Amino acid sequence: MNTRKTALHSTLKTLPDTYRGFNLKRIFTAASYRLLPGACLLCGLSAGHDIDLCSACEQGLPRLGLHCDICANPLNTVGICGRCLNQRPTFSTVQTPLLYQYPVDLLLQHFKFSGQLAAGKVLSQLLARHIKEKTEREKCPLPDLLIPVPLHWKKRFFRGFNQCEIITRELSAQLHVNYSRYTIKRITNTPAQHHLSRKERQRIPGNTFVAGRASQLLHEARVALVDDVLTTGSTVEALSRTLIKEGAKSVEVWLLARTPLDN
Ligand SMILES: [Zn+2]
Ligand SMILES: [Zn+2]
Repeated sequence: MNTRKTALHSTLKTLPDTYRGFNLKRIFTAASYRLLPGACLLCGLSAGHDIDLCSACEQGLPRLGLHCDICANPLNTVGICGRCLNQRPTFSTVQTPLLYQYPVDLLLQHFKFSGQLAAGKVLSQLLARHIKEKTEREKCPLPDLLIPVPLHWKKRFFRGFNQCEIITRELSAQLHVNYSRYTIKRITNTPAQHHLSRKERQRIPGNTFVAGRASQLLHEARVALVDDVLTTGSTVEALSRTLIKEGAKSVEVWLLARTPLDN
Protein backbone atom coordinates (compact mmCIF):
# COMPACT_ATOMS: atom_id res chain seq x y z
CA MET A 1 0.00 0.00 0.00
CA ASN A 2 2.81 2.37 0.93
CA THR A 3 4.60 1.79 -2.38
CA ARG A 4 1.38 2.53 -4.27
CA LYS A 5 0.76 5.64 -2.18
CA THR A 6 4.30 6.91 -2.88
CA ALA A 7 3.88 6.16 -6.61
CA LEU A 8 0.59 8.06 -6.68
CA HIS A 9 2.04 11.04 -4.86
CA SER A 10 5.05 11.24 -7.16
CA THR A 11 2.92 10.79 -10.32
CA LEU A 12 0.51 13.52 -9.28
CA LYS A 13 3.34 15.83 -8.21
CA THR A 14 4.71 15.79 -11.75
CA LEU A 15 1.50 17.41 -13.00
CA PRO A 16 0.96 21.19 -12.72
CA ASP A 17 -0.25 21.92 -9.21
CA THR A 18 -2.93 24.54 -9.69
CA TYR A 19 -5.83 25.18 -11.99
CA ARG A 20 -7.12 28.67 -11.38
CA GLY A 21 -8.73 30.69 -14.12
CA PHE A 22 -7.62 30.85 -17.74
CA ASN A 23 -3.84 30.56 -17.74
CA LEU A 24 -0.98 28.80 -19.49
CA LYS A 25 -0.70 26.15 -16.81
CA ARG A 26 -4.31 25.19 -17.33
CA ILE A 27 -3.89 24.96 -21.11
CA PHE A 28 -0.71 22.92 -20.67
CA THR A 29 -2.47 20.50 -18.31
CA ALA A 30 -5.31 19.89 -20.73
CA ALA A 31 -3.03 19.63 -23.78
CA SER A 32 -0.45 17.35 -22.18
CA TYR A 33 -3.20 15.08 -20.91
CA ARG A 34 -4.66 14.79 -24.42
CA LEU A 35 -1.32 14.25 -26.13
CA LEU A 36 0.35 11.96 -23.62
CA PRO A 37 -2.20 9.53 -22.23
CA GLY A 38 -1.39 6.00 -21.22
CA ALA A 39 0.38 6.03 -17.80
CA CYS A 40 -1.48 4.64 -14.80
CA LEU A 41 -2.21 7.49 -12.37
CA LEU A 42 -1.74 5.23 -9.38
CA CYS A 43 1.44 3.26 -10.14
CA GLY A 44 2.91 5.01 -13.20
CA LEU A 45 3.03 1.81 -15.28
CA SER A 46 1.55 1.63 -18.76
CA ALA A 47 -2.23 1.93 -18.60
CA GLY A 48 -2.73 0.07 -21.85
CA HIS A 49 -6.39 0.87 -22.49
CA ASP A 50 -8.84 3.74 -22.77
CA ILE A 51 -8.44 4.97 -19.20
CA ASP A 52 -5.36 6.15 -17.29
CA LEU A 53 -5.33 3.23 -14.88
CA CYS A 54 -3.67 -0.16 -15.32
CA SER A 55 -5.91 -3.22 -14.95
CA ALA A 56 -4.39 -4.18 -11.58
CA CYS A 57 -4.93 -0.73 -10.03
CA GLU A 58 -8.43 -0.51 -11.49
CA GLN A 59 -9.36 -3.90 -10.03
CA GLY A 60 -7.97 -2.82 -6.66
CA LEU A 61 -10.25 0.23 -6.35
CA PRO A 62 -12.78 0.15 -3.47
CA ARG A 63 -16.09 -0.74 -5.15
CA LEU A 64 -19.51 -0.10 -3.66
CA GLY A 65 -20.89 -3.51 -2.64
CA LEU A 66 -24.39 -4.14 -1.29
CA HIS A 67 -26.13 -0.84 -0.75
CA CYS A 68 -29.45 0.94 -0.18
CA ASP A 69 -31.51 0.95 -3.41
CA ILE A 70 -32.25 4.65 -2.92
CA CYS A 71 -29.35 6.48 -1.27
CA ALA A 72 -26.55 3.91 -2.01
CA ASN A 73 -25.53 3.81 1.66
CA PRO A 74 -23.44 0.62 2.04
CA LEU A 75 -25.50 -2.13 3.71
CA ASN A 76 -24.96 -5.77 4.68
CA THR A 77 -28.02 -6.81 2.72
CA VAL A 78 -30.11 -5.79 -0.30
CA GLY A 79 -33.02 -3.37 0.21
CA ILE A 80 -33.63 0.10 1.56
CA CYS A 81 -31.85 1.62 4.57
CA GLY A 82 -33.65 2.71 7.74
CA ARG A 83 -33.08 6.37 7.01
CA CYS A 84 -34.77 6.17 3.58
CA LEU A 85 -37.61 4.06 5.05
CA ASN A 86 -38.14 6.75 7.69
CA GLN A 87 -38.10 9.61 5.27
CA ARG A 88 -38.09 8.85 1.55
CA PRO A 89 -35.72 11.22 -0.29
CA THR A 90 -36.97 13.36 -3.18
CA PHE A 91 -34.42 11.86 -5.58
CA SER A 92 -35.27 8.39 -6.88
CA THR A 93 -31.85 6.75 -6.67
CA VAL A 94 -28.10 7.35 -6.22
CA GLN A 95 -25.70 5.78 -8.74
CA THR A 96 -22.00 5.39 -8.04
CA PRO A 97 -19.35 2.73 -8.71
CA LEU A 98 -16.90 3.56 -5.89
CA LEU A 99 -16.46 3.99 -2.15
CA TYR A 100 -14.75 7.12 -0.85
CA GLN A 101 -11.71 5.28 0.50
CA TYR A 102 -8.01 5.10 -0.43
CA PRO A 103 -6.98 5.67 -3.22
CA VAL A 104 -10.28 7.15 -4.50
CA ASP A 105 -10.23 9.77 -1.71
CA LEU A 106 -6.71 10.85 -2.67
CA LEU A 107 -7.55 11.07 -6.40
CA LEU A 108 -10.65 13.10 -5.62
CA GLN A 109 -8.80 15.48 -3.30
CA HIS A 110 -6.09 16.06 -5.91
CA PHE A 111 -8.79 16.79 -8.48
CA LYS A 112 -10.90 19.03 -6.27
CA PHE A 113 -8.34 20.98 -4.30
CA SER A 114 -5.29 20.95 -6.62
CA GLY A 115 -7.07 20.93 -9.96
CA GLN A 116 -5.53 17.66 -11.20
CA LEU A 117 -7.72 17.17 -14.26
CA ALA A 118 -6.33 13.71 -15.02
CA ALA A 119 -7.57 12.38 -11.67
CA GLY A 120 -11.03 13.90 -12.27
CA LYS A 121 -11.17 12.48 -15.76
CA VAL A 122 -10.35 8.94 -14.62
CA LEU A 123 -13.04 9.03 -11.89
CA SER A 124 -15.59 10.48 -14.36
CA GLN A 125 -14.76 7.74 -16.89
CA LEU A 126 -15.36 5.07 -14.23
CA LEU A 127 -18.72 6.65 -13.43
CA ALA A 128 -19.67 6.85 -17.13
CA ARG A 129 -18.78 3.20 -17.58
CA HIS A 130 -20.88 2.27 -14.51
CA ILE A 131 -23.89 4.16 -15.92
CA LYS A 132 -23.46 2.60 -19.40
CA GLU A 133 -23.31 -0.92 -17.96
CA LYS A 134 -26.35 -0.28 -15.77
CA THR A 135 -28.53 1.15 -18.56
CA GLU A 136 -27.59 -1.74 -20.88
CA ARG A 137 -28.12 -4.36 -18.17
CA GLU A 138 -31.46 -2.98 -16.96
CA LYS A 139 -32.54 -1.68 -20.37
CA CYS A 140 -33.47 1.65 -18.79
CA PRO A 141 -33.14 4.94 -20.68
CA LEU A 142 -30.50 7.55 -19.94
CA PRO A 143 -31.78 10.81 -18.39
CA ASP A 144 -32.75 13.80 -20.55
CA LEU A 145 -30.45 16.29 -18.85
CA LEU A 146 -27.33 16.30 -16.65
CA ILE A 147 -27.00 19.03 -14.03
CA PRO A 148 -23.84 19.70 -12.01
CA VAL A 149 -24.32 20.57 -8.34
CA PRO A 150 -23.79 24.35 -8.41
CA LEU A 151 -21.22 26.19 -6.33
CA HIS A 152 -21.93 29.67 -4.98
CA TRP A 153 -20.31 32.16 -7.40
CA LYS A 154 -17.82 33.31 -4.74
CA LYS A 155 -16.60 29.79 -4.10
CA ARG A 156 -16.38 29.08 -7.84
CA PHE A 157 -14.44 32.31 -8.35
CA PHE A 158 -11.89 31.60 -5.62
CA ARG A 159 -11.45 27.91 -6.50
CA GLY A 160 -11.29 28.77 -10.21
CA PHE A 161 -13.62 25.97 -11.25
CA ASN A 162 -16.56 23.85 -10.17
CA GLN A 163 -15.40 20.23 -10.07
CA CYS A 164 -18.98 19.00 -10.67
CA GLU A 165 -19.11 20.90 -13.98
CA ILE A 166 -15.92 19.21 -15.16
CA ILE A 167 -17.32 15.77 -14.22
CA THR A 168 -20.63 16.59 -15.95
CA ARG A 169 -18.90 17.68 -19.17
CA GLU A 170 -16.99 14.40 -19.29
CA LEU A 171 -20.16 12.37 -18.62
CA SER A 172 -22.04 14.33 -21.28
CA ALA A 173 -19.31 13.58 -23.85
CA GLN A 174 -19.14 9.90 -22.95
CA LEU A 175 -22.88 9.24 -22.69
CA HIS A 176 -24.17 11.74 -25.30
CA VAL A 177 -26.62 13.36 -22.88
CA ASN A 178 -27.08 17.15 -22.80
CA TYR A 179 -26.07 19.14 -19.76
CA SER A 180 -26.73 22.62 -18.44
CA ARG A 181 -25.21 24.56 -15.57
CA TYR A 182 -27.78 27.36 -15.78
CA THR A 183 -30.99 25.59 -14.72
CA ILE A 184 -30.39 26.13 -11.03
CA LYS A 185 -28.11 28.31 -8.92
CA ARG A 186 -26.87 28.47 -5.35
CA ILE A 187 -27.58 31.79 -3.69
CA THR A 188 -26.36 31.02 -0.17
CA ASN A 189 -22.66 30.46 0.38
CA THR A 190 -22.64 27.54 2.85
CA PRO A 191 -19.29 26.58 4.42
CA ALA A 192 -17.38 23.61 2.90
CA GLN A 193 -19.14 20.41 4.01
CA HIS A 194 -16.00 18.61 5.12
CA HIS A 195 -15.36 21.30 7.79
CA LEU A 196 -18.74 20.70 9.40
CA SER A 197 -20.09 18.14 11.83
CA ARG A 198 -22.73 15.75 10.52
CA LYS A 199 -25.51 17.67 12.29
CA GLU A 200 -24.37 20.94 10.76
CA ARG A 201 -24.12 19.33 7.31
CA GLN A 202 -27.75 18.27 7.51
CA ARG A 203 -28.84 21.88 7.93
CA ILE A 204 -29.11 23.28 4.40
CA PRO A 205 -31.21 26.48 4.42
CA GLY A 206 -34.42 26.15 2.39
CA ASN A 207 -33.51 29.12 0.18
CA THR A 208 -30.05 27.83 -0.82
CA PHE A 209 -31.03 26.95 -4.41
CA VAL A 210 -33.24 28.84 -6.87
CA ALA A 211 -34.14 28.53 -10.56
CA GLY A 212 -31.45 29.72 -12.98
CA ARG A 213 -31.83 31.43 -16.34
CA ALA A 214 -32.24 28.09 -18.24
CA SER A 215 -34.76 26.59 -15.83
CA GLN A 216 -37.24 26.03 -18.72
CA LEU A 217 -35.05 23.03 -19.67
CA LEU A 218 -36.32 21.30 -16.55
CA HIS A 219 -39.89 21.04 -17.80
CA GLU A 220 -40.88 17.34 -17.62
CA ALA A 221 -37.20 16.37 -17.79
CA ARG A 222 -35.71 13.25 -16.23
CA VAL A 223 -32.68 14.80 -14.59
CA ALA A 224 -29.41 13.36 -13.29
CA LEU A 225 -27.76 15.55 -10.70
CA VAL A 226 -23.96 15.17 -10.76
CA ASP A 227 -21.92 15.47 -7.54
CA ASP A 228 -18.41 14.36 -6.59
CA VAL A 229 -19.01 12.63 -3.26
CA LEU A 230 -22.09 12.17 -1.10
CA THR A 231 -21.96 12.37 2.67
CA THR A 232 -25.26 13.15 4.40
CA GLY A 233 -27.14 13.81 1.17
CA SER A 234 -28.67 17.05 2.46
CA THR A 235 -27.34 19.12 -0.47
CA VAL A 236 -28.69 16.78 -3.16
CA GLU A 237 -31.99 16.49 -1.27
CA ALA A 238 -32.38 20.29 -1.19
CA LEU A 239 -31.42 20.50 -4.87
CA SER A 240 -33.80 17.69 -5.85
CA ARG A 241 -36.69 19.48 -4.14
CA THR A 242 -35.95 22.67 -6.07
CA LEU A 243 -35.59 20.79 -9.39
CA ILE A 244 -38.94 19.05 -8.91
CA LYS A 245 -40.55 22.34 -7.87
CA GLU A 246 -39.20 23.92 -11.07
CA GLY A 247 -40.80 21.23 -13.26
CA ALA A 248 -38.41 18.25 -13.43
CA LYS A 249 -40.21 14.93 -13.78
CA SER A 250 -37.68 12.94 -11.77
CA VAL A 251 -34.22 13.35 -10.27
CA GLU A 252 -31.51 10.77 -9.82
CA VAL A 253 -28.08 11.44 -8.36
CA TRP A 254 -24.78 10.39 -9.94
CA LEU A 255 -21.63 10.42 -7.82
CA LEU A 256 -17.96 9.68 -8.28
CA ALA A 257 -17.90 8.00 -4.86
CA ARG A 258 -20.03 7.32 -1.80
CA THR A 259 -19.07 7.87 1.82
CA PRO A 260 -20.74 5.41 4.21
CA LEU A 261 -23.49 7.29 6.06
CA ASP A 262 -22.10 6.61 9.51
CA ASN A 263 -18.63 8.03 8.78
ZN1 LIG B 1 -1.47 0.98 -11.95
ZN1 LIG C 1 -31.02 4.77 1.94
